[in-house]
Amino acid sequence: MKKKSVWAILAACLALGLGLGFTAKVRAGAASREAAMIRPVDDAWRAALPRDPEQATAAYLARISPEARGRSDAYFTGGYWLQLGSFLVTLGSFGLLLATGASAAMREFAERATRRRPLQTMLYAVLFMAATWVIQLPLGVAGDFIREHRYGMATQSFPHWMKDQVVGLLVSTVILALALAALYGALRRFPRTWWIWGTGGGVLVLAFVMFIAPAFIDPLFNAYKPLPEGPARQAILSLARANGVPAKDVLWFDASRQTNRVSANVSGILGTTAVRLNDNLLNRSTLPEIKGVMAHELGHYVLNHLYKALMFFALVLLAGFAFVAWAFEALRSRAGSWGIRDIGDPAGLPLLAGLFTLFMFVLTPALNTDTRVQETEADLFGVNASLEPDGFAEAQLKLVEYRKADPGPVEEFLFFDHPSPRKRILTAMRYKAEHFPR
Ligand SMILES: [Zn+2]
Repeated sequence: MKKKSVWAILAACLALGLGLGFTAKVRAGAASREAAMIRPVDDAWRAALPRDPEQATAAYLARISPEARGRSDAYFTGGYWLQLGSFLVTLGSFGLLLATGASAAMREFAERATRRRPLQTMLYAVLFMAATWVIQLPLGVAGDFIREHRYGMATQSFPHWMKDQVVGLLVSTVILALALAALYGALRRFPRTWWIWGTGGGVLVLAFVMFIAPAFIDPLFNAYKPLPEGPARQAILSLARANGVPAKDVLWFDASRQTNRVSANVSGILGTTAVRLNDNLLNRSTLPEIKGVMAHELGHYVLNHLYKALMFFALVLLAGFAFVAWAFEALRSRAGSWGIRDIGDPAGLPLLAGLFTLFMFVLTPALNTDTRVQETEADLFGVNASLEPDGFAEAQLKLVEYRKADPGPVEEFLFFDHPSPRKRILTAMRYKAEHFPR
C-alpha cells in the first residue's frame, strides 16, 4: 500500500463518521426506554417480600418485564461485540500506519520540524493520536453515539457529543505526548531494561489520572456543584463521618447532559476527597436508594480500592511491557520493512501499542475479575454501612436498564466488571434476612 492511500482512508473515515452522526435519528430510543422502565413499589410490597434471600431476589427480578429484559440483554451482549470490534479496528489502524509507511513518514516529519528528541516524540504522538482517532471515529459514532441513542441512554445532540470527544482527545493527547516522551527517553537510554523503568513511569501517569485528574479534568465535561442542604446531603455526610471518610462536601454533577445512567463516586486524595453523585441518581432515587448506593461508593474509599487497583495495574503494566519487549525483538526482522530503525524509534509506536493492546485484550477477564471482586467488597460494605438492603436492591434493579440482569457464570466471569444485578440484589437480601430477622 502507498502512503497516499492513508490520506484517502483518513478522509473516508472522517466523512463516514461525521455523516453517520449528522444523519442519525436520535429521538426514537427515549420512548422505548421509558416504556421498559421498572415501576416503583411501595412499603407494603417490600413488607410482603419472602424472607428467603433467593425468593426475595426472584421477586425483585420478576418486576422486569420480558420486553425490558430482552432489551437489556440485547444492549449488554451487543457491548461484547462492540469490544471485539473496537479491538480489531484499533489493531487495524496501527497496522495501516505501519504497512503504508505512514508511521515512518510521521517520524521523518517530526525530525525535520525539530532537533530535540523529546519534542520529536511529542510531535509524533500528536500525529499518531490524530490519525488513529480519525480511523476509529466511524465505530465510535456507531457504538457510543448512535447505539446509546437507540437504547435511550444518550441525551446529547451530535455536535455536543462531538465537542466532548474532541476535548477528550486533546486532554489524552497532552497526557500521552508527555508520557511517551519519557517512555522513549527510557527506551533509548535502557534498550534492554526499559520495561522496568517504563512500568515506574506508567504507574506515575496512572496515579495522576486516578487521583489528581478527577479534580481538574472531569470539570471540563460536567459542572460540579455542592449539593444543596437537605436530607440527601445530611444522610451522605453522616454516612461519611460514621465510616471515617474525610469528606467535607457532597458534589453533584449534570451527567444528564450526556446520559440517563445513574452513577456516583468518591474521589480525591489529601484534602481533595469529595463524594460525588450525578443528577440522574438524585432525581430518580428515593433516600434509601441514595444511601444504599453512596454507602457502596464510600466502601471503595474505606477499603482503599484505588490504591489496590493501582498496585494491580503496576503488575499488569510490568507483565505487559515485558511481553512487548520480548515480542518486539521477535518481530525485529519485519520491523525493518515498516521503516522502524530500532525500539527507541517513535515510528515503532504502532507496533508497541498494538502488542500492548493485544496483551490487554487477552487479559480482559482478569482485569474484569479484579474490578468485580472490589465491587463485591463495596456491596458488602455498603449494605452494612447503610442498613438499607431494600434501597440498594431497588437501585440495582434500575441498573438493569444497561446491565444484563442474570448472566451465566462463564459470561459473568468473562465480561462483567461488576457483579450481575441478580447477585447484587441477592447480597442485599441475604444481609436483610440475617440482620433484620423477623
Ligand atoms: Zn463500585
